[in-house]
Amino acid sequence: MSENKALNLLRGIPPVNDLLKEEKILNYLQIYGRNFVLEKLREILDNIKSSIKTNEKYCVNNSIETIEDVREHIIDELERFLESSKLHTLKKVINATGIVLHTNLGRAPISQKALKKVVEISSGYCNLEYDLEKGRRGSRYDHIEEELCRLTGAEAGVIVNNNAAAVFLCLNTFAMGKEVLVSRGEQVEIGGQFRIPDIIRQSGCSMVEVGTTNKTHTWDYENEINENTAILLKVHTSNYRIMGFTSSVPLNEIKTPKNTDDIIRVEDLGSGCLVDLSQFGISYERSPKDCLKEGADLVTFSGDKLLGGAQAGFIIGKKEYIEKIKKNPLTRILRCDKMTIAALNAVLEMYNLSDSEMMEIPALAMLLEKKDGLEIKAKKLADLLRQEIGQLCNIDIVDVEEEAGGGSLPGVVFYGKAVAVIPQNGSPDSIRDHLRKGELPIVCRIVEDRLLFHVRTIKEEEFIVIGSMLRKVLGD
Ligand SMILES: *Cc1c(COP(=O)(O)O)cnc(C)c1O
Repeated sequence: MSENKALNLLRGIPPVNDLLKEEKILNYLQIYGRNFVLEKLREILDNIKSSIKTNEKYCVNNSIETIEDVREHIIDELERFLESSKLHTLKKVINATGIVLHTNLGRAPISQKALKKVVEISSGYCNLEYDLEKGRRGSRYDHIEEELCRLTGAEAGVIVNNNAAAVFLCLNTFAMGKEVLVSRGEQVEIGGQFRIPDIIRQSGCSMVEVGTTNKTHTWDYENEINENTAILLKVHTSNYRIMGFTSSVPLNEIKTPKNTDDIIRVEDLGSGCLVDLSQFGISYERSPKDCLKEGADLVTFSGDKLLGGAQAGFIIGKKEYIEKIKKNPLTRILRCDKMTIAALNAVLEMYNLSDSEMMEIPALAMLLEKKDGLEIKAKKLADLLRQEIGQLCNIDIVDVEEEAGGGSLPGVVFYGKAVAVIPQNGSPDSIRDHLRKGELPIVCRIVEDRLLFHVRTIKEEEFIVIGSMLRKVLGD
């Protein structure tokens, strides 16, 4: 290659910022993450520079002759690399279902602040089980207990792998070989193999059913209490609601005879909501604090439902009981790792700091998003889609009803906005399947032959991907 030509090609290498404006690359940034793409892009540019300078053959092999060739080559190289990096199966997904706590899509997204803490704590060493004050072994549970107690008014608390584990540990620690009383109306199946009767059996306890499906009274429990009773268990009916002629019993109204003082009242709350949602216009939801007030000795709830944190199970309540649970060898088996503890540490702090801090928790922000906010988002997405595929589809903004998901707030309807795409050709089902199988999978719904994109759970920066994926699928 002549020196002049090489110089010319070198000058023709576009600056990174210029490349970042390419539509293809913009798309990659979305799909693979900015840092990952940038790093590779810089590496490709460096390689090209040095090969133009030193290795004529490289340019000949890749038939790099003109400045346009250089640009094309860079994008091809990047594409090749990113395609091959698709090997990992756990992928980012665009959730266009409007269901904020979608269990199949990973439940609550984790806040930036919590993620930062996770990186900070887990990329190096930390005082996970080391008491810095005393210079000796500490407890991993200490890092969340104080904040948790402040938020719930509990004496003590502990976290384990998930809420299923939390329920299991309460039963196993206090009722092994003994009886657990649970209302017939609360023998729920949450999904994913979590069924109350099974959990009770697997914890080594026997279940005693009390009451009926719709009504259970204090005397239903009281009639069944004997010297072998260990736990009165109350379970939140997370994913359904019994309506009409119903009654259930607050735990503190159940009277226990004198010789059965050691009976423990446990409430499995399911979704642990730490704020009063009624102040935001959503119907009242029982909080861990309310359970304690109504006589629960122990309350369990999830970390990744309404709380908006990482997968974990919280157990809060009387100190003497929590201490016993901490000492159960099975707690060691079900313990959380430092990443979870770091994330939850940050999330609980956000609740304690201020309302605006709390609203940085993505699950809460999405659930509490106001109608006008959703309307603006829907308009933006609709405008973008009209530009991209307006020739091929009818695009409308429609009102939709949504639910929180993840066994939270059963029966509560959220009014949202969705962009409806009605293709002139092609079946909606096949379009939906293509979107789901794309590089950055998009999960959406079909209602009456219209593809619905609920904007509540879509990030604005994801709009561009939806636009380009739809255009690709519709084969412009
Ligand atoms: C969701 C739920 C569980 C299971 O919680 P995980 O954190 O998913 O293990 C248990 N009980 C109730 C009432 C629930 O709603």
